[in-house]
Amino acid sequence: MAISITTALYKKNDEVREVSTFEIDGKANREEYKGNLYCTTPGCNARLVYVYRTGKPSYFRTWKKDDHLESCIYSFERIEGRIGINTQYSINVEISAERKRNALQSAYKQFKMPEERRVNKKTPSRKSRKTKGRTGNIAIKPVIQKGATEEEVKTEGRRGPNLLRRNADALSDSDVGKARLIIGFIKRINYDTTRAVITIENNNHTVDVKFEEAFFANSPRHIGFFHFIERYITENTSVIFTAVGEVRKTSNGNKYEFVVYDGEDFRIENMTLLSIAAYYSHNKLE
Ligand SMILES: [Zn+2]
Repeated sequence: MAISITTALYKKNDEVREVSTFEIDGKANREEYKGNLYCTTPGCNARLVYVYRTGKPSYFRTWKKDDHLESCIYSFERIEGRIGINTQYSINVEISAERKRNALQSAYKQFKMPEERRVNKKTPSRKSRKTKGRTGNIAIKPVIQKGATEEEVKTEGRRGPNLLRRNADALSDSDVGKARLIIGFIKRINYDTTRAVITIENNNHTVDVKFEEAFFANSPRHIGFFHFIERYITENTSVIFTAVGEVRKTSNGNKYEFVVYDGEDFRIENMTLLSIAAYYSHNKLE
């Protein structure tokens, strides 16, 4: 149910002033803000919490037990009636499992067939796609987690989020911090028990796709299975990898990397890791 809130009222003793996420981002000691942040809407006393995220803009989250005033612009249900106002608000919407599944499948098919790849290149520009993703002045932003569900926004009469597709050589700064579908050929894989990195390649550009702590927490069944991918790419050539996740900058800042959060969010040659594991274990595809 997140509508990005980027300003808050700081209230302590007699002091009341507006603070932005940027101001707090810059502070080494953020403790003084705790418990002293409120919604900026006059009359709305919803308390806010500053949320810092690496590689993504920070924001203010509403306290779990606090509701915004019914007429507050941050009250999700009330936004529809305020569309005429020139706002910059966006709603984070989680991409549904079904949408991810369909997107992964169609991306694989299109990448596999050179004919369709050519056709795909002619298809229209990001600009027109972007426009379609907006309803009124409110941007529908696709996210992997911590957003409203597609069902919730559909009830609000909005369409679901667009999931933009990027080949491994086509990432740009505008993708950073956003949910994307990525495609490339598997070049190599490194893994141990708690992490894995699949390096994918397209037109001589490589991107590291990372499976970290969050991935294994979400998908414990995948622990110990990544060696099957190693085996698969030694036995097959030009293995196509597709995944839904988030784009990041590498820590030195000069490359992009991609983070996958769930075992259902990636495919090796259009197969899940679990089905490849089953294939090798029983020598047949599930
Ligand atoms: Zn409010």
